[in-house]
Amino acid sequence: TGGSSRPYRVVLLGASGVGKTAIASIFAGAADSMDSDECELYGDEVCEQTITVDGEKATVTLVDNWDSEDEGGSSQDQCIQTGDAYLLVYSITDRSSFLKASELRISLRQHRPAHHTPIILVGNKCDLVRRREVSVNEGRACAAVFDCKFIETSAAMQHNVWPAFHGIVQQLRLRRDTK
Ligand code: GDP
Repeated sequence: TGGSSRPYRVVLLGASGVGKTAIASIFAGAADSMDSDECELYGDEVCEQTITVDGEKATVTLVDNWDSEDEGGSSQDQCIQTGDAYLLVYSITDRSSFLKASELRISLRQHRPAHHTPIILVGNKCDLVRRREVSVNEGRACAAVFDCKFIETSAAMQHNVWPAFHGIVQQLRLRRDTK
């Protein structure tokens, strides 16, 4: 079964400052400390963890090396082409990051037209209620148009970050099972 096959490669995408590193460090801090040591072997941009989702183990390699400075460059291309699934992150306090997420969604579709790649649109920093620039409804509507799931998270409060990872594994399994 999928639990014993190669790890799922999940890539974090999004504008600079939206909280990708904060989300990745919650993932890196998961499980027991032995596993966390293992993460350091991969450097701080890639981390592998085995997590249990719906009673079944899944190994996930989380990639956080999106370089927003490298517009159209090879490292961006590589990121977009090598993921099994994507967490498309914006900050609810930054409308330009929301627009960037839409652009990234379009790039993903262009690069991988034949695949039904699991994607979750992640509105991070939902703890910053008074600085909100993007409403929940806008996020949800955008996800509907882009045919992907939607979740709001707060890496700072550790809110909804694990449900996002679990959700992406569930989508990956659905795809595997219907192949
Ligand atoms: P990246 O450039 O996408 O990797 O963003 P970072 O993870 O470096 O986060 C940018 C800044 O936003 C840092 O100062 C974080 O502490 C802060 N940050 C990240 N996530 C949250 C969040 O959920 N809530 C709040 N209030 N701040 C956050």
